[in-house]
Amino acid sequence: MVKRPRWLVKGTWKIRKPPKLEANKKAMNIQCKVCMQSFMCTTSEVKCKEHVEAKHPKADIVTCFPHLKK
Ligand SMILES: [Zn+2]
Repeated sequence: MVKRPRWLVKGTWKIRKPPKLEANKKAMNIQCKVCMQSFMCTTSEVKCKEHVEAKHPKADIVTCFPHLKK
């Protein structure tokens, strides 16, 4: 991200901060139970699997992501 120059911030026209960060936080509702890393709620099972294989090769995918339990 590029920082806005001071003169631009102090300008007469309003710069509204998009509530993107907050939205991102809310979207992060999948969490690996082993390393507590957060993932987007849109993260697919494949991505979760990739995480388990990369970070916790000895752990079961359900151990890391219980929501994937069938
Ligand atoms: Zn993990």
